Amino acid sequence: MRGFKCVVGGRGLEPLNLSHVKGAARHFTWRAEQVVQALGRVPHVSASLGLERAGIAYSAGGIVADDWCRTNIGHIYAVGDVNGKSMLLHAAERQNRLVTDLILRGYTPEPFRATEMPMTVFTRPALMSVGLSTEAAQAQGIKVSEERRQMRWEDRALIMGEPEGLVKFVVAKGTGRVIGVHAVGIDAVSLSTVGHLIVRYGLTLQDVSLMTFPHPTQFEILNTLAWNSV
Ligand SMILES: Cc1cc2nc3c(=O)[nH]c(=O)nc-3n(C[C@H](O)[C@H](O)[C@H](O)COP(=O)(O)OP(=O)(O)OC[C@H]3O[C@@H](n4cnc5c(N)ncnc54)[C@H](O)[C@@H]3O)c2cc1C
Repeated sequence: MRGFKCVVGGRGLEPLNLSHVKGAARHFTWRAEQVVQALGRVPHVSASLGLERAGIAYSAGGIVADDWCRTNIGHIYAVGDVNGKSMLLHAAERQNRLVTDLILRGYTPEPFRATEMPMTVFTRPALMSVGLSTEAAQAQGIKVSEERRQMRWEDRALIMGEPEGLVKFVVAKGTGRVIGVHAVGIDAVSLSTVGHLIVRYGLTLQDVSLMTFPHPTQFEILNTLAWNSV
């Protein structure tokens, strides 16, 4: 985990210390009998699939497919985890619908867009990420700024006693478009739905600053963050 340091205190029921290194405001400590770490998944492209026999191009990153999920063999598609584009259930479902349209109707309105897939982690605190990170945007030559707001500034976080966390926008300089929405803390998973809409429809800071969300919900943070940033 980037930005975190885990220190296991010893055997048995010794405490596991998880420290937030970046910013290092506070140390969290949990007592745990066991720690299971399972980060990262890779597409399973074993020999049993017979890809070589079919002449389908693949690599360790999965079956090579374009944004319409077409492999190098025109009538064969690769959908879901196996193409390594976005290894999430709703991403597989989106690709499934796209390819079903292509096969049955010969048309689908748009390609698969991996960057707009909401990624959520159902932990405490919860995490979410939609769109580009600052690093990914810069790697594509996009100049960006970051706008942040602490969860604790919203009434909902205080009412629920979960003030820790933040929301971050990655904003394209020039256009003002919010190209990444990332959050950790209360209701982060729910916030990903609006994050998806913001990124998918290329909304600007100004657009989001003019939205209205019900009070007291944590959605207000999106509007207030944008309002403070324009
Ligand atoms: C522990 C865990 C937790 C997850 N939690 C989430 C979550 O909270 N949210 C989320 O969005 N995603 C989650 N995912 C990811 C999600 O499960 C996958 O992205 C999704 O299932 C991908 O769908 P798929 O159809 O591409 O592949 P799969 O669902 O893996 O389906 C592939 C199928 O192909 C079969 N198969 C494999 N090889 C062969 C073969 N040679 N011949 C015939 N059949 C074969 C398999 O048995 C399987 O039934 C999680 C994954 C894991 C492992």
